[in-house]
Amino acid sequence: MSSKVTQLQFPALPYDFNALEPHIDAMTMEIHYTRHHKAYFDNLMAAVKDTPMADMSFDDLLKNISKFPAAVRNNGGGHFNHELFWSVMSPNGGGTPKGALAEAIDKNFGSFEQLKEQFNTAAKTRFGSGWAWLCVKADKSLCVCSSPNQDNPLMDVADCPGIPILGLDVWEHAYYLKYQNKRPDYVSAFWNVINWSEVENNYNKAL
Ligand code: MN
Repeated sequence: MSSKVTQLQFPALPYDFNALEPHIDAMTMEIHYTRHHKAYFDNLMAAVKDTPMADMSFDDLLKNISKFPAAVRNNGGGHFNHELFWSVMSPNGGGTPKGALAEAIDKNFGSFEQLKEQFNTAAKTRFGSGWAWLCVKADKSLCVCSSPNQDNPLMDVADCPGIPILGLDVWEHAYYLKYQNKRPDYVSAFWNVINWSEVENNYNKAL
Protein backbone atom coordinates (compact mmCIF):
# COMPACT_ATOMS: atom_id res chain seq x y z
CA MET A 1 0.00 0.00 0.00
CA SER A 2 2.93 2.36 0.45
CA SER A 3 4.09 1.73 -3.14
CA LYS A 4 4.23 4.65 -5.50
CA VAL A 5 1.38 4.58 -7.97
CA THR A 6 3.73 3.98 -10.91
CA GLN A 7 5.27 1.00 -9.12
CA LEU A 8 1.94 -0.80 -8.68
CA GLN A 9 1.67 -4.13 -10.46
CA PHE A 10 -1.36 -5.96 -11.70
CA PRO A 11 -1.53 -8.75 -9.11
CA ALA A 12 -1.68 -12.43 -9.89
CA LEU A 13 -4.97 -14.07 -8.97
CA PRO A 14 -4.09 -16.27 -5.97
CA TYR A 15 -6.08 -19.28 -7.30
CA ASP A 16 -7.55 -20.68 -10.52
CA PHE A 17 -10.66 -19.17 -12.11
CA ASN A 18 -12.70 -22.26 -11.13
CA ALA A 19 -11.32 -22.48 -7.58
CA LEU A 20 -14.30 -20.80 -5.91
CA GLU A 21 -16.92 -22.98 -7.64
CA PRO A 22 -19.77 -23.47 -7.03
CA HIS A 23 -20.06 -20.25 -5.03
CA ILE A 24 -18.45 -18.03 -7.64
CA ASP A 25 -18.34 -19.52 -11.13
CA ALA A 26 -15.23 -19.74 -13.32
CA MET A 27 -16.53 -17.59 -16.16
CA THR A 28 -17.45 -14.76 -13.81
CA MET A 29 -14.02 -14.98 -12.18
CA GLU A 30 -12.20 -14.96 -15.51
CA ILE A 31 -14.10 -11.98 -16.92
CA HIS A 32 -14.02 -10.12 -13.61
CA TYR A 33 -10.26 -10.50 -13.17
CA THR A 34 -8.94 -10.34 -16.75
CA ARG A 35 -11.30 -7.66 -18.04
CA HIS A 36 -12.84 -5.61 -15.24
CA HIS A 37 -9.94 -5.49 -12.79
CA LYS A 38 -7.38 -5.25 -15.60
CA ALA A 39 -9.25 -2.32 -17.11
CA TYR A 40 -9.33 -0.46 -13.76
CA PHE A 41 -5.61 -1.05 -13.39
CA ASP A 42 -4.72 0.04 -16.93
CA ASN A 43 -7.00 3.06 -16.76
CA LEU A 44 -5.45 4.12 -13.42
CA MET A 45 -1.99 3.95 -14.95
CA ALA A 46 -3.15 5.96 -17.96
CA ALA A 47 -4.84 8.57 -15.76
CA VAL A 48 -1.75 9.25 -13.62
CA LYS A 49 0.82 9.06 -16.43
CA ASP A 50 3.03 12.17 -16.61
CA THR A 51 1.26 13.79 -13.65
CA PRO A 52 2.44 14.40 -10.07
CA MET A 53 0.00 11.66 -9.00
CA ALA A 54 2.33 9.04 -10.51
CA ASP A 55 4.95 9.67 -7.81
CA MET A 56 2.54 9.72 -4.87
CA SER A 57 2.10 6.69 -2.64
CA PHE A 58 -1.09 4.84 -3.57
CA ASP A 59 -2.19 5.18 0.04
CA ASP A 60 -1.86 8.99 -0.05
CA LEU A 61 -3.60 9.15 -3.40
CA LEU A 62 -6.65 7.32 -2.02
CA LYS A 63 -6.64 9.34 1.21
CA ASN A 64 -6.75 12.58 -0.80
CA ILE A 65 -8.93 11.34 -3.63
CA SER A 66 -11.32 14.32 -3.53
CA LYS A 67 -8.52 16.47 -5.00
CA PHE A 68 -8.07 14.30 -8.09
CA PRO A 69 -10.02 13.58 -11.30
CA ALA A 70 -12.95 11.18 -11.37
CA ALA A 71 -10.96 8.74 -13.53
CA VAL A 72 -8.42 8.38 -10.73
CA ARG A 73 -11.10 7.95 -8.07
CA ASN A 74 -12.97 5.31 -10.10
CA ASN A 75 -9.97 3.37 -11.38
CA GLY A 76 -7.77 3.79 -8.30
CA GLY A 77 -10.63 2.54 -6.16
CA GLY A 78 -11.31 -0.18 -8.70
CA HIS A 79 -7.75 -1.44 -8.49
CA PHE A 80 -7.47 -1.31 -4.69
CA ASN A 81 -10.88 -2.87 -4.11
CA HIS A 82 -10.40 -5.82 -6.46
CA GLU A 83 -6.92 -6.64 -5.19
CA LEU A 84 -8.35 -6.80 -1.66
CA PHE A 85 -11.37 -8.80 -2.84
CA TRP A 86 -9.29 -11.57 -4.49
CA SER A 87 -7.08 -11.83 -1.42
CA VAL A 88 -9.91 -12.27 1.08
CA MET A 89 -11.31 -15.27 -0.76
CA SER A 90 -9.90 -18.79 -0.96
CA PRO A 91 -10.99 -22.24 -2.16
CA ASN A 92 -10.26 -23.32 1.44
CA GLY A 93 -12.32 -20.46 2.84
CA GLY A 94 -15.45 -20.27 4.90
CA GLY A 95 -15.80 -21.23 8.53
CA THR A 96 -15.41 -18.63 11.21
CA PRO A 97 -12.84 -16.01 12.19
CA LYS A 98 -10.21 -16.91 14.77
CA GLY A 99 -8.00 -15.26 17.34
CA ALA A 100 -7.97 -11.53 18.04
CA LEU A 101 -10.29 -10.85 15.11
CA ALA A 102 -12.92 -13.24 16.49
CA GLU A 103 -12.68 -11.51 19.88
CA ALA A 104 -13.04 -8.08 18.26
CA ILE A 105 -16.09 -9.25 16.28
CA ASP A 106 -17.77 -10.52 19.45
CA LYS A 107 -16.95 -7.28 21.26
CA ASN A 108 -18.15 -4.97 18.46
CA PHE A 109 -21.13 -6.87 17.06
CA GLY A 110 -22.17 -9.20 19.89
CA SER A 111 -21.48 -12.34 17.84
CA PHE A 112 -20.28 -13.58 14.47
CA GLU A 113 -23.91 -14.16 13.47
CA GLN A 114 -24.71 -10.52 14.14
CA LEU A 115 -21.73 -9.39 12.07
CA LYS A 116 -23.03 -11.58 9.21
CA GLU A 117 -26.46 -10.05 9.47
CA GLN A 118 -25.14 -6.47 9.40
CA PHE A 119 -22.76 -7.22 6.54
CA ASN A 120 -25.45 -8.99 4.50
CA THR A 121 -27.82 -6.09 5.00
CA ALA A 122 -25.14 -3.60 3.89
CA ALA A 123 -24.40 -5.70 0.78
CA LYS A 124 -28.04 -6.29 -0.14
CA THR A 125 -29.24 -2.72 0.41
CA ARG A 126 -26.43 -0.89 -1.42
CA PHE A 127 -28.46 0.55 -4.31
CA GLY A 128 -26.86 0.04 -7.72
CA SER A 129 -23.15 -0.71 -7.90
CA GLY A 130 -20.81 -0.69 -4.94
CA TRP A 131 -19.12 -2.60 -2.17
CA ALA A 132 -19.82 -3.85 1.36
CA TRP A 133 -17.01 -3.58 3.91
CA LEU A 134 -15.76 -4.69 7.28
CA CYS A 135 -13.44 -1.93 8.49
CA VAL A 136 -11.20 -0.91 11.34
CA LYS A 137 -12.04 2.64 12.40
CA ALA A 138 -9.56 5.22 13.72
CA ASP A 139 -10.48 4.23 17.30
CA LYS A 140 -9.59 0.58 16.39
CA SER A 141 -13.18 -0.61 16.64
CA LEU A 142 -14.81 -2.58 13.81
CA CYS A 143 -17.64 -1.36 11.64
CA VAL A 144 -19.69 -2.55 8.67
CA CYS A 145 -20.68 -0.21 5.88
CA SER A 146 -21.08 0.06 2.14
CA SER A 147 -19.92 2.51 -0.49
CA PRO A 148 -21.07 3.41 -4.03
CA ASN A 149 -19.27 2.68 -7.30
CA GLN A 150 -15.54 2.01 -6.69
CA ASP A 151 -15.26 4.22 -3.61
CA ASN A 152 -13.86 2.70 -0.42
CA PRO A 153 -13.45 3.65 3.25
CA LEU A 154 -9.83 4.78 2.76
CA MET A 155 -11.01 7.69 0.64
CA ASP A 156 -11.56 11.14 2.09
CA VAL A 157 -15.01 11.08 0.48
CA ALA A 158 -16.12 8.02 2.49
CA ASP A 159 -19.25 8.13 4.66
CA CYS A 160 -17.61 5.48 6.83
CA PRO A 161 -13.86 6.21 7.05
CA GLY A 162 -11.63 3.33 8.09
CA ILE A 163 -9.26 0.64 6.90
CA PRO A 164 -11.13 -2.06 4.99
CA ILE A 165 -10.14 -5.60 6.02
CA LEU A 166 -12.90 -7.48 4.14
CA GLY A 167 -14.77 -6.33 1.05
CA LEU A 168 -17.52 -7.74 -1.13
CA ASP A 169 -18.08 -6.52 -4.68
CA VAL A 170 -21.83 -6.12 -5.27
CA TRP A 171 -21.63 -4.79 -8.83
CA GLU A 172 -23.77 -6.92 -11.13
CA HIS A 173 -20.62 -7.94 -13.04
CA ALA A 174 -19.56 -9.82 -9.90
CA TYR A 175 -22.57 -12.16 -9.88
CA TYR A 176 -24.98 -11.71 -12.78
CA LEU A 177 -23.89 -14.69 -14.93
CA LYS A 178 -24.63 -17.17 -12.14
CA TYR A 179 -27.11 -15.40 -9.90
CA GLN A 180 -28.84 -12.95 -12.30
CA ASN A 181 -30.93 -10.56 -10.20
CA LYS A 182 -30.58 -12.63 -7.00
CA ARG A 183 -27.92 -10.59 -5.23
CA PRO A 184 -28.91 -11.99 -1.80
CA ASP A 185 -27.98 -15.53 -2.94
CA TYR A 186 -24.54 -14.32 -4.05
CA VAL A 187 -24.07 -12.47 -0.75
CA SER A 188 -24.95 -15.65 1.19
CA ALA A 189 -22.55 -17.73 -0.93
CA PHE A 190 -19.66 -15.34 -0.22
CA TRP A 191 -19.40 -16.62 3.37
CA ASN A 192 -18.32 -20.03 2.01
CA VAL A 193 -15.17 -18.61 0.42
CA ILE A 194 -13.96 -15.97 2.89
CA ASN A 195 -10.29 -16.40 3.74
CA TRP A 196 -10.46 -15.56 7.44
CA SER A 197 -6.75 -15.93 8.06
CA GLU A 198 -6.11 -13.20 5.49
CA VAL A 199 -8.83 -11.01 7.03
CA GLU A 200 -7.17 -11.55 10.42
CA ASN A 201 -3.81 -10.50 8.91
CA ASN A 202 -5.48 -7.37 7.57
CA TYR A 203 -6.97 -6.71 11.00
CA ASN A 204 -3.62 -7.05 12.75
CA LYS A 205 -1.95 -4.75 10.22
CA ALA A 206 -4.70 -2.16 10.61
CA LEU A 207 -4.25 -1.93 14.38
MN1 MN B 1 -15.81 -5.84 -9.73
